[in-house]
Amino acid sequence: MRIAMIGAGYVGLVSGACLADFGHSVVCIDREPEKVASLNAGRMPIYEPGLDALVAENVRQGRLAFHTSLPEAVAEADAVFIAVGTPSRRGDGFADLSFVFDAAREIAGALSGFTVVVTKSTVPVGTGDEVERIIREANPGADVSVASNPEFLREGAAIADFKRPDRIVVGTGDARAEAVMREVYRPLYLNQAPILVTDRRTAELTKYAANAFLAAKITFINEIADLCEQVGADVQQVARGIGLDKRIGPKFLHAGPGYGGSCFPKDTLALVKTAQDAGTPLRLVETVVAVNEQRKRAMARKVIKACGGSVRGKTIALLGLTFKPDTDDMRDAPSLAIVAGLQDAGAKVRAYDPEGMDHARALMPAVDYAENAYACAEGADALVIVTEWNAFRALDLDRLRRTMSSGSAPVLVDLRNIYDPASAARYGFTYCGVGRSKEN
Ligand code: NAD
Repeated sequence: MRIAMIGAGYVGLVSGACLADFGHSVVCIDREPEKVASLNAGRMPIYEPGLDALVAENVRQGRLAFHTSLPEAVAEADAVFIAVGTPSRRGDGFADLSFVFDAAREIAGALSGFTVVVTKSTVPVGTGDEVERIIREANPGADVSVASNPEFLREGAAIADFKRPDRIVVGTGDARAEAVMREVYRPLYLNQAPILVTDRRTAELTKYAANAFLAAKITFINEIADLCEQVGADVQQVARGIGLDKRIGPKFLHAGPGYGGSCFPKDTLALVKTAQDAGTPLRLVETVVAVNEQRKRAMARKVIKACGGSVRGKTIALLGLTFKPDTDDMRDAPSLAIVAGLQDAGAKVRAYDPEGMDHARALMPAVDYAENAYACAEGADALVIVTEWNAFRALDLDRLRRTMSSGSAPVLVDLRNIYDPASAARYGFTYCGVGRSKEN
C-alpha cells in the first residue's frame, strides 16, 4: 500500500514509521519545515523510545520519507491519514478542528484515483461528515471515501502499542474503504489484533469514550486516595484489592497528582461539550474534568502543608516534569499547575526531568533547572516526585538526604507512591505520599 501521513507529530510519526515497518510505502508530510528538515537529517523532533532506530531503518530501506509538500504523496496514495493536532479551542473547550479541516482542503485538490482519507486524529462525532463535505465541495469528481481510524497508542510505549494494539477501530460503511483498511492493517490482525469495523460516528465516539473511561478510573482512585488520607487507609492496598477483581482490572488505578498530557484533558472536555450540544450531558465526565482540574493545584497545597504550612523562601526540588515517564511531552502536565502554585506561595522551584526540560524551559522560565536528581535536591527543603521516571525509582536516599537542606528532617513528597514510607523515614525523611496515611 502507498500511504500518505499528514502530520508528523507523536501520532503521525510513530504511525508512519510503524506502517513503513510493516512493508508499506509511507510519506509523512508536516507543515513545519524545521521538523521535516530534522527528520531528514535523522534527528527525531520528539522523544519516544525506539523511534530513532525504527525511522532510520525504514528510511534506509526506502519505505519512509518526509516532505513538507503534500500533492505528490497524496496523488500516489491508496490511503491518506490525517494525524494533525486537535487541541482544545481557546475559550470554550471544544476540539479545535482547524488543522483537520485545513488538511482536508489541501488533500482534496491533490487526490487522484480511488483514495481512502482516514481521520486518525481524535475528532468529535460528525467530523468525518464535515471532512467528506469539504473534500467533495473542493473536488466534486474525486473518487474518495472518508473513514475514521482513531489511534489508541500511548506516548512512551507508542511503538509497542501501535504494533500490538488491543484493537483496531475502523469507521466506514464503504466496502472498498474497508478493504483498503484491512490491507493496511493486515500484518497486525495476522497477530490477532481484533479489527472492529463500525460506522464512522461510532468509531469517532469510541475514542472519546475510551479516554473518558480511563480518565474516570484515574480520578476515581485519586478521590479514594484523598479519603484514605482522612480515614487512615492505604490506597495502594485498596487499589490492589479492587484491581484483582477482573471486572475492574489493575490498570489505571495508581493514585497520583491527576491526569495530564496531550489527550485526556482535552478529550474529556471535548466530549463534555459534544454531549451538552447533543442535549445529553455526561454528568459523570463533567465531574471527572472538574475534579481533575482542582487536583493539580491541590498538589501544590499538599506540598505546602507537608512543609509545615509555608514554602515562602524555601527551595522545593521537583523530580519529573513531563505528564508521564518516557516522553518529552509537557502538554497539560500536572507539573505546570504544581510549579505555579508553589511559586505563587513564594517558593523557589528547582527541577530536573530526563527528557522534558527543553519544553519545560519555554513554559516555566522562572524555574531553576538542574543537571540530575542529586543536583536538583542540593540544599532543597523538600523534594517532590512528580513523574515516576525509572531513574527516580531507586535513588540513593541517604545521599539525597545528605544533599538536601541541613535543617530538620527534609520533606519527601512522593506524588507517585514509588517509595516505601517506612524506609524513607529510616533515611531521615519526613515522608508524604498520596493516599497512604492520615498524616499526609
Ligand atoms: P502533534 O501536535 O504532536 O502533531 C501534529 C503535527 O501535525 C504537527 O507536527 C503539525 O505541524 C502537523 N500539522 C498540522 N497541520 C498540518 C497540515 N495541514 N499539513 C501537514 N502537517 C500539519 O499532535 P499528536 O500528539 O501527534 O496528536 C495528533 C492527533 O492524534 C490528535 O488529535 C490527538 O488527540 C491524537 N492522539 C494523540 C495521542 C498522543 O499520545 N499524542 C494518542 C492518540 C491520539
